[in-house]
Amino acid sequence: MTNAFTLLKTSPTGPRAGVLRTPHGDVPTPVFMPVATQGTVKAVSPEELKGLGASIVLSNTYHLYLRPGLEVMRRAGGLHRFMAWDGPILTDSGGFQVLSLTFLRRLSDEGVGFRSHIDGGSEHMLTPELAIEIQETLGSDIMMALDECPAFGGDFEAIKAATERTHRWAERCLARRRNTGQALFGIVQGGTFPELRRDSARFIAGLPFDGYALGGLSVGEPKPVTYAAIEQCAPLLPEDRPRYLMGVGSPEDFFECVSRGIDMFDSVLPTRVARNGAIFTTEGREDIGNARFKEMMGPIEPGCDCYTCRTFSAAYLHHLFRCQELLAYRLATIHNLRFIVRLMQDIRRAILDGSFDGLKESFLRRYRPADAEVAASQKQKWMEAQKRKRSALEAEG
Ligand SMILES: [Zn+2]
Repeated sequence: MTNAFTLLKTSPTGPRAGVLRTPHGDVPTPVFMPVATQGTVKAVSPEELKGLGASIVLSNTYHLYLRPGLEVMRRAGGLHRFMAWDGPILTDSGGFQVLSLTFLRRLSDEGVGFRSHIDGGSEHMLTPELAIEIQETLGSDIMMALDECPAFGGDFEAIKAATERTHRWAERCLARRRNTGQALFGIVQGGTFPELRRDSARFIAGLPFDGYALGGLSVGEPKPVTYAAIEQCAPLLPEDRPRYLMGVGSPEDFFECVSRGIDMFDSVLPTRVARNGAIFTTEGREDIGNARFKEMMGPIEPGCDCYTCRTFSAAYLHHLFRCQELLAYRLATIHNLRFIVRLMQDIRRAILDGSFDGLKESFLRRYRPADAEVAASQKQKWMEAQKRKRSALEAEG
């Protein structure tokens, strides 16, 4: 798997276009990976994913380990066969979910002990070695090293300790890997401290990973801070390996992050907001429940080539959402994913033909981002709710 990444166009500090070869097919980069947390991209079938141009999906080690569990995965012959997706799959390490979803966590150098959020009782210990073993059982094309992703706002010493632990775990993940047919990516941490970010990028870049991810970003920090962290790290990472920014998925971010040298993205954003009736258009996110769509007989996004827009009117989609019909979630998800996939295809084409800056300028001039403060406060609220839930459970336990 080593060095299966080919850059077709590159620049030391700017946008890159390439091809990532995997055992289940080629992934043109830059790329957006739809998220299939439970081994399914919510509301759409693998056939629909193929149809809308998705080339790789991301699935979740933590969730699949707890349910259905490794024995079912072994019997199924791995995750590709279990979910009937024959394209590339990237699996995360489970670290982020253990730290954000579980309670009664005991974090040590050995790993992170936790109790399942599903049955609320069973005890587990996720170590770097187990994270690799699970991902080898799932048979993903790209595995992620276990990292400690600290919450945004931690002090310097806390972030430094988490970053150093991430480094030790990275080495253990590499040592544990048996199947070199599966790529393994390392993760740079360091919070929002430039010095720690650079140290982490240098350390992780010094290890023989097949690709490099930036973790611990898009967790509530202001966007300029995210962009600055990319600028601090990207030049320190090996040029000939893919760079993956974890958890970033809004259209305006793609332009800003691609122009700073990022190749891969994932986020639940396009699919999660679709199920709330938020539809991506070239002018920004629209609420399909808005009365102005009630009698709109054209598609939600004129010119969109997705199944939803080719087949149904905005008025029909508006109607489905008002009635809470299940088809609404599927149609909105198909549109949002196609919008993002096509945007990434346009970005890639523009990088290759030298017109990226023009595309970026014209897209961002037209596109009205969801209010950054609203988005940040929503995320903050969600994280606080998770924290309260955890403390309540801890108090019980
Ligand atoms: Zn569409």
